[in-house]
Amino acid sequence: MKIVCVGRNYAKHINELNNKKPGEPVLFIKPDTAVLPYRNPLVLPDFAKDFHYEVELVVKINKLGKHIEPKFAQRYYDEIGLGLDITARDLQTRLKADGLPWEKAKAFDNSAVVSREFLPKTGFNNLQNIRFSLQKNGVTVQQGHTADMLWHIDELISYISRFFTLKKGDLIFTGTPAGVGKIQINDIFTGYIENLEMFRVKIK
Ligand code: ZN
Repeated sequence: MKIVCVGRNYAKHINELNNKKPGEPVLFIKPDTAVLPYRNPLVLPDFAKDFHYEVELVVKINKLGKHIEPKFAQRYYDEIGLGLDITARDLQTRLKADGLPWEKAKAFDNSAVVSREFLPKTGFNNLQNIRFSLQKNGVTVQQGHTADMLWHIDELISYISRFFTLKKGDLIFTGTPAGVGKIQINDIFTGYIENLEMFRVKIK
């Protein structure tokens, strides 16, 4: 199982990091070892100082696919979940400045919080009309709406599958909306799809 992450899929988040709007989706991979085991606290590693949270809608792939056409992408997922893409922002900024890959800043152990429950997509009228949000210590810090995605879910699946064969159980992190910020020890993060709590994680 792997996680394929999409960077820069919400215009306002691109602006807050002073990034350029890409002509094509930005992709990176987290390995299965990046998934934080359910109910474990997130222990911040010692190789960076500035960790950021990014709440993202997550799509779970249900069968093998390669070169999937957008019109058939619906057949490759049944469920939607929520995740946190944990980023070592100071390390990522250094790597980017040197023109180096970001893996160490994005794909390290426990850098992916994933909701245990996934929701059937049939429970939503329109997947591009889902609201999701993140609370830090009870205060809402990120609010996303899938209508604001630059590339919609089916387009992402199609694009990703040109490069990476998708397998059953793979997860797609579909990008974060604006409002990313610092993680501090003792923070508690809770993620919501609409009004439903999807995950709760404590920082240590
Ligand atoms: Zn992200």
